[in-house]
Amino acid sequence: MHDKQLLKLLKQQQKILSKIALGQPLSEIGEEICLAIEDILEDKSAKCSILSLTGQNLFHCAAPSIDPKYCEIINGVEIGPSVGSCGTAAFRKSRVIVDDINSSPLWTDFKPIALKYGLESCWSTPIISTKSKVLGTFAVYHTKPRTPSEQDIELIDYFVHFSSIALEKDSNAYQLREVVKELKHSNDKFKAITEVMPDLVLILSEHGEYVDVYGDSEDLLYSSMIEMKGHNVNDILPAKDAQPIMAVIEKTLATNEIQVFEYELDVQKGHVVFEGRTASVEHYQSKNNSSRHVLWVARDITQRKFAEREIEKLAYYDPLTKLPNRRMLNERLDIAVEKIKRSGETGALLFLDIDDFKRLNDSLGHSSGDELLIEVTRRLGAITRKSDTLARLGGDEFVVLLEYIGDDNEQANIESSTVAQKINKVFDEEFKIGSLSFQISCSIGICLIEGSDITANNILKFADTAMYRSKAKGGNSFSFYDPQLQTLLDRKIELETEILKAIENEEFCAYFQPQVSTTGKIVGAEALIRWIHPIKGIISPCEFIPVAEQFGLIQRLQNVVLRDICKLLNSLNANLIDEDFKVSINISPSQFKSSSLKTELLNIIRHFNVSPTKITLEIIESMLAHDVEHTVQQMEELKSEGFTFSIDDFGTGYSCLTYLHAYPVKELKIDKSFIDRISDQESGLSIVKTIINLARNLKIEVIAEGVETEEQLNILKRCNIDSVQGYFFAKPMPMNEYIKWHKGF
Ligand code: C2E
Ligand code: CA
Ligand code: CA
Repeated sequence: MHDKQLLKLLKQQQKILSKIALGQPLSEIGEEICLAIEDILEDKSAKCSILSLTGQNLFHCAAPSIDPKYCEIINGVEIGPSVGSCGTAAFRKSRVIVDDINSSPLWTDFKPIALKYGLESCWSTPIISTKSKVLGTFAVYHTKPRTPSEQDIELIDYFVHFSSIALEKDSNAYQLREVVKELKHSNDKFKAITEVMPDLVLILSEHGEYVDVYGDSEDLLYSSMIEMKGHNVNDILPAKDAQPIMAVIEKTLATNEIQVFEYELDVQKGHVVFEGRTASVEHYQSKNNSSRHVLWVARDITQRKFAEREIEKLAYYDPLTKLPNRRMLNERLDIAVEKIKRSGETGALLFLDIDDFKRLNDSLGHSSGDELLIEVTRRLGAITRKSDTLARLGGDEFVVLLEYIGDDNEQANIESSTVAQKINKVFDEEFKIGSLSFQISCSIGICLIEGSDITANNILKFADTAMYRSKAKGGNSFSFYDPQLQTLLDRKIELETEILKAIENEEFCAYFQPQVSTTGKIVGAEALIRWIHPIKGIISPCEFIPVAEQFGLIQRLQNVVLRDICKLLNSLNANLIDEDFKVSINISPSQFKSSSLKTELLNIIRHFNVSPTKITLEIIESMLAHDVEHTVQQMEELKSEGFTFSIDDFGTGYSCLTYLHAYPVKELKIDKSFIDRISDQESGLSIVKTIINLARNLKIEVIAEGVETEEQLNILKRCNIDSVQGYFFAKPMPMNEYIKWHKGF
């Protein structure tokens, strides 16, 4: 290269490098390179071009002296083993010198176009990046066949080097531009998705700050997006809602797992049930690389929840009465059975069927029948407890499931009878449908749920069977499945009717047994009821008092006894009895609990003009143990009227003796069982002595019952007892006999 050429070269080199450094467009730099080499090459017919490789295709980036039409045709050509000089050079990654296009096999496909534009030779050099990647080709054409000289090659390599710098720099910039474009594109996509999505997308910082909020459903937020962004969950939401949200954030970050959960919030739209999904996001903010974030997608599932609940209602509830249906009952029964098997307690299932419902339904029409069922439901609902399940199985069949009815068979028997009676009673009142009113009744079958070999299936079947027994009896009644219980019940019901009849026939009366003081004075008498049966003779109260209690007849029997007491008191001449003489009456537990006790007592004794001070109420020890406050109040009220109290069967009730002082008690009656054993030092006498001592301390009088022998009487006298009652003095006697006895004492 001679000096002039070298100078030119240096000048060109400076120009090109400064353009590259300034980041001028690649096409401009390329043209500069082409023109420079064309100028320096000896043969002035040289035409240069730079092509860049994108994928497998070559594109012109500069060819200032070549006809643009030729470039256009060649543009985009795919490289290969014989695709002209450039296509082949790029493919082979090595220089291809074609000194005569006309005769070169590489040019077979492109020869006509090249010759048409007067191009007859083409030397092509691949432009290779620093990472050995082909970036493009550098081509030198001539209008005549021509072979390059050594100097030509040297020059070409020199400019190829520039081209590689320019292309490589451009390729980096291009890649960066592509990345930015792609990012923008995906960002737009994300925005578009969040805008059409019904969900909210929230980005929360690990401390609970709303970093970004996306989505079109602002009404699902507490307040506007703008107000929320940059603020903390704890500042925006009430504490009760913020706390669980913070807990989710913590859990998401701690586990690094996607969380799916449901939650409810009162937002701008109203009360909304959400399905939330959270995932932890690392490096969400480039500035704040170390902080962690949670991506929170919230979906409004209120409608779905509502629909689910509706579906559940349809599946588990009877649409007419809104009661649990057979399916729900079966599930609850299964649970109850399992619970009972574990606890050993007793439950009961009552199966109800309305008597003659079909006939009613057919004659009244179905809509009236429906109304009737709704009214039955209302009445049954009023007498069942929350813990019971009242279900409708369909038609006129109802079930009451009592999950706990007692600790043992006997208690369960009594309690479930009581519930069944209540159910039967619910039908006593007339049903009014429209302008009609009529009387209906129901038949009940009871199956107790107890023991370890019960199954839910059997229980329903057995209760159903028992229900048919009630139907067979003529309806309006209840029956047990258990045959033994059934006979017991039958006997009780029989006895109940007999008692009712006996009351009407005035077969009940009081017998009197005197109470004598240790000083030998008659201090009182106990009234004891007797049933003088026309055929069976005298029936013991032990046989009928419990039944009378259970069937609510005790009050009427009590009134008979009280009437006889008044008659006795009025018959005993004033000179036969003194101030202190009292007659005692036994008050049963259910009566004592009743709020009408006082009025009932006063009504009768006022009628006979008898003072309450003449009457002692005998209650048993165990009655004191229940509801102390109410018991004391009841006793105080009666005491203020003038009645006195004696604690019957004392010593058998395990009551807490230390509390005895809290009750207004005048007398303790030592139970007969201790008197029977009084000759025995340990089991008899010492207990009697203890009771008497206790009573002395509390200033309560003591009487002994069941005193049969003189020996017993003498021991009791030595113990300083106040008075005694028993066969030793007299058995209970009819009123007239008693009066005679009293006079003769
Ligand atoms: P109670 O109140 O403990 O009555 C005492 C029972 O012992 C009475 O039996 C009485 O006849 C019996 N008795 C009295 N002295 C002796 C004796 O020396 N030896 C023996 N072996 N027995 C004696 P009764 O009359 O058969 O009454 C049984 C239970 O029936 C009573 O026990 C009481 O709990 C209940 N009762 C009786 N009358 C009434 C009443 O009008 N109303 C209520 N609610 N219960 C009553
Ligand atoms: Ca008594
Ligand atoms: Ca007694």
